[in-house]
Amino acid sequence: MTIFKKIIDRQIPADIVYEDKYCLAFRDLKPQAPTHILLIPKEELKSMAEVENHHAATLGHLMVKASEIAMNEGIASEGYRLVVNTRAFGGQTVDHLHIHILGGRPFSWPPG
Ligand code: AMP
Repeated sequence: MTIFKKIIDRQIPADIVYEDKYCLAFRDLKPQAPTHILLIPKEELKSMAEVENHHAATLGHLMVKASEIAMNEGIASEGYRLVVNTRAFGGQTVDHLHIHILGGRPFSWPPG
C-alpha cells in the first residue's frame, strides 16, 4: 500500500485542503514552493503510464479540481505549474498518480 493510499484511508495524517468522492488534495510534506499541493485520485492508479480510456472521467475531474484549488489558494492570477512526475525518468517517488500544484513563485523552463 502506498503512503497516499494510507492518507486516503486516514491511516496517516495530512493537511487536507479538498476532498470529494473521487479525489483528495493535501499539502506536500516538503513544499518546493510557497504553495505546494498534491491532488490524487481515490481510485488506485499508479501513474500516467497506466492510464487507459476508462480513466478519462477521473483525469478530467482532477484537472477541473486542480484549477479550482489553484483559484482558492490565490495562485491563479499570478500563474502556477501543474506537474505529474511519471516513473523513474520523470522523478516519480510515490506509485499513486498525483498532480503537483505549485505556485507562489515563478518557475523556470526547461525543468531540471
Ligand atoms: P513525486 O516525487 O512526484 O512522486 O512526489 C511525491 C511527493 O510526495 C513529494 O513531493 C513528497 O514530498 C510528497 N510526500 C511524500 N510523503 C508525503 C506525506 N506523507 N504527506 C505529504 N506529502 C508527502
